[in-house]
Amino acid sequence: MEDFTFDVVIVGAGPAGIGAAVTASRSGKSVAVLDDNVDIGGQIWRGERTRPLTREAQHWFDEVRRARNVQWWCECAVLGVEGPKQLLVHDRSRQQLCRINYQSLILATGAVELFLPISGWTLPGVFGAGGLQALAKSGYSVCDKRVIVAGSGPLLLAVAAYLQSRGAQLMLVAEQAPWSRVYGYALHLLVYQYTKFRHGVSLRRTLRKTPYRVGCWPVRIRSTENGLQVIFTDGVKYFSESCDLLACGFGLVPNTELAQLIGCRLEQDRLVVNRRQESSISGVYGAGEVCGIAGVETALVEGQIAGYHAVGQDRTAQRLYRRRDRLRRFADRLQKSFALRDELRRVPEPDTIVCRCEDVTFDQVRDLGSCRAARLMARCGMGPCQGRVCGPALRFLFDWKDRSVRPPLLPTPAGVLCEEYVSDPRDSP
Ligand SMILES: Cc1cc2nc3c(=O)[nH]c(=O)nc-3n(C[C@H](O)[C@H](O)[C@H](O)COP(=O)(O)OP(=O)(O)OC[C@H]3O[C@@H](n4cnc5c(N)ncnc54)[C@H](O)[C@@H]3O)c2cc1C
Repeated sequence: MEDFTFDVVIVGAGPAGIGAAVTASRSGKSVAVLDDNVDIGGQIWRGERTRPLTREAQHWFDEVRRARNVQWWCECAVLGVEGPKQLLVHDRSRQQLCRINYQSLILATGAVELFLPISGWTLPGVFGAGGLQALAKSGYSVCDKRVIVAGSGPLLLAVAAYLQSRGAQLMLVAEQAPWSRVYGYALHLLVYQYTKFRHGVSLRRTLRKTPYRVGCWPVRIRSTENGLQVIFTDGVKYFSESCDLLACGFGLVPNTELAQLIGCRLEQDRLVVNRRQESSISGVYGAGEVCGIAGVETALVEGQIAGYHAVGQDRTAQRLYRRRDRLRRFADRLQKSFALRDELRRVPEPDTIVCRCEDVTFDQVRDLGSCRAARLMARCGMGPCQGRVCGPALRFLFDWKDRSVRPPLLPTPAGVLCEEYVSDPRDSP
């Protein structure tokens, strides 16, 4: 297995990783950015390197082009920890494993979508909201498809507007938060975050022909001759709407698996960092959604702070603290406004599948008491996604706190692992 050594290694090439790499590289130290995707940009700027859609993305991709001393390793999945200050990486383009050594590590691993089990959610045509957006960005055609976007958070409007721009016919955007909270959030934006308010208004204007219903959530999905029939409730009444594609997302959950393997402290599902963006382990920093869901601006500023501190430029980093703190306060407000309602815990029916890989039903796990027990006794989370979808859902549904993370963090062909780890029997004496 080949070994590579860098002063600073960054995992994740989204806005946080890009911000960190650009600033760290200014010191002249060697920097490597590792990302599982085929190109840099993370979730929001996926596929935009050659044609950025916003001025902000354009600016950062220009910075990427100018940055010296940075190696951008795409299609490289970080599978786990190999030794002290050493990561095990699967380079997919060369189908081989390598060890990456670092002085400082910046975790910018982003977030995953919270996709809650609903009766019928395994039917063809039902997607995660961000998942459908990611597919559309990668070429999946939604043109002329009737689409419903349901769940929670500002991401719903962003996804709906994007799908509409790709030719989809948006039938409904359904937000589970009550009107009072959505209204309070909009008012907060108007007073304290006017640019974001204007962005929200412009998204709503783009979607002016699409109803935006608040205080309602999907409870069942059926397959009919007319496509999918989605049944919604507001807690009192029920109504249904038909569509070809349903995009469902109940917010985002920090992707802390690597942080956990390294042994960093987590709290409320997020990586704990201090003002320097440093985790409980010295020399290991965190930036962006892994430290809590807060949006692209926060990811960028935290990435820059982590990048400067990782190369010892503490004073430059400190100049960004105020901005970061203000953005984090706004993120806390966002979390409260779109907090998930208790009723969502009662949506799954006894035979609703909760683990899509292993076909485990709600009834099979409800009394098991922990994610670990659900894994051991019902195979929940033992399939190809390794609990990446059902894990966050179970923690929300049952308030289970435990999480078990094991390498490899991302699916890896057995052949690649065998070549390195299983000795050839013919070598034995
Ligand atoms: C599915 C989805 C869709 C979204 N769509 C929008 C949108 O339309 N508009 C909007 O404003 N915000 C959107 N967001 C939120 C937005 O992505 C974030 O606000 C912002 O991109 C956060 O940046 P980040 O750098 O922290 O994380 P990300 O942009 O998520 O970047 C994290 C990167 O880490 C990589 N990574 C993680 N683990 C590993 C590993 N083990 N090995 C290698 N690489 C790894 C991932 O491949 C990813 O590229 C979306 C989020 C998600 C999850």
